[in-house]
Amino acid sequence: METNEKKQLSYELGPIRPPSEAYSLLIRATRNCPWNKCRFCHTYKGRKFEMRSVDEIEADIYTAKVMKDRMAEVALQTSTDIKEVAGRLLADPPSEGFRNVALWLYAGGENVFLQDANSLLMKTDDLVEVLRFLKVTFPGVKRITSYGRSQTANRKKPEELARLSEAGLSRLHLGLESGYDPLLLYMDKGVTAEEHVKGGRKVVQSGISLSEYVILGLGGKQMSEEHATHTAGVLNEIGPDFIRVRTLCVNKRMPLHEDIQSLKFVMATDEEIVKEERKLIVSLECNSNFVSDHISNLLPELEGRLPDDKDGMLAVIARFEALSPDEKANFIVGRRINVYSSLDDMKDPRRHEVAERVKKKLSRDNRLDQNEIFALMEDFI
Ligand code: SF4
Repeated sequence: METNEKKQLSYELGPIRPPSEAYSLLIRATRNCPWNKCRFCHTYKGRKFEMRSVDEIEADIYTAKVMKDRMAEVALQTSTDIKEVAGRLLADPPSEGFRNVALWLYAGGENVFLQDANSLLMKTDDLVEVLRFLKVTFPGVKRITSYGRSQTANRKKPEELARLSEAGLSRLHLGLESGYDPLLLYMDKGVTAEEHVKGGRKVVQSGISLSEYVILGLGGKQMSEEHATHTAGVLNEIGPDFIRVRTLCVNKRMPLHEDIQSLKFVMATDEEIVKEERKLIVSLECNSNFVSDHISNLLPELEGRLPDDKDGMLAVIARFEALSPDEKANFIVGRRINVYSSLDDMKDPRRHEVAERVKKKLSRDNRLDQNEIFALMEDFI
């Protein structure tokens, strides 16, 4: 493959995808977020929402195929497999598009994620056309997923969602965030608990797998308890396949930052959020996979199939809560500087020592400064 040719080949990519889609082929179906008001979200602030035409999206899919074909040709010429060629290209990819396709092929080339915040806003016919084109262009693709909003899902007719499912839309990731109406209103989420339930249930009934995102700590100190119980209540009514938790992290680009400065909103501490998560898990009665696949979560080992794994998950929380105050602080710091990925990692003397040293730096009068922890967490978003 000639260098100039590689440089010319590129296509448009959006800014984010869910952690579970880290190795997916990313295809930008729309640009930015049509709502863009949530106080806890900075991702698309200052950027205008735009629909993309089916032609534009299909041109990007075709470019990704050309990239794949080029790598397949090199594999043939050098008697290696496409994974190896993709792996080598990852060391110095000529464009972000090439990097994405190479990473996708290196991971097996099975999944596709449609960016940005709400592909469901596309006309159903258009989205069906894009899904069909993807399937025809990449027959080996097994899963196609996208972000969506509950309200938009609720506005689609059941037969429209069923058509999307038949055309290959395997999973929707919806941002539930909370099931507590006063908190949804305060955060300007633009959706009520009832709309979350209606939209989520419609997706479940359509046969599209549903992944609901919950933000731990979103209620701050003031609404923590209500956030946990009402969120569980909404999830119990929906029964999604996946409940994915992440923890509130705030940076200056979020409107919520001003509320924190003016003390209108008070962030919950890690220990308070663990209590909130316990309440959430205790109150969940649905059959769902509980997933902690975000670096912001203090206890990533809180994962399992509900209800069967509930006791095991509560045992992890009990183990954290039984730590002495000093060891709790050590774990919190170790987790926030990413030297721990589970409670068991504390048994490693080297990691423990690193966390202990940083803990001392972040402490005042022998107490961990929570603001330093919040500052560390800004790097997670
Ligand atoms: S959380 Fe989702 S709906 Fe809200 S502003 Fe961000 S991208 Fe848009």
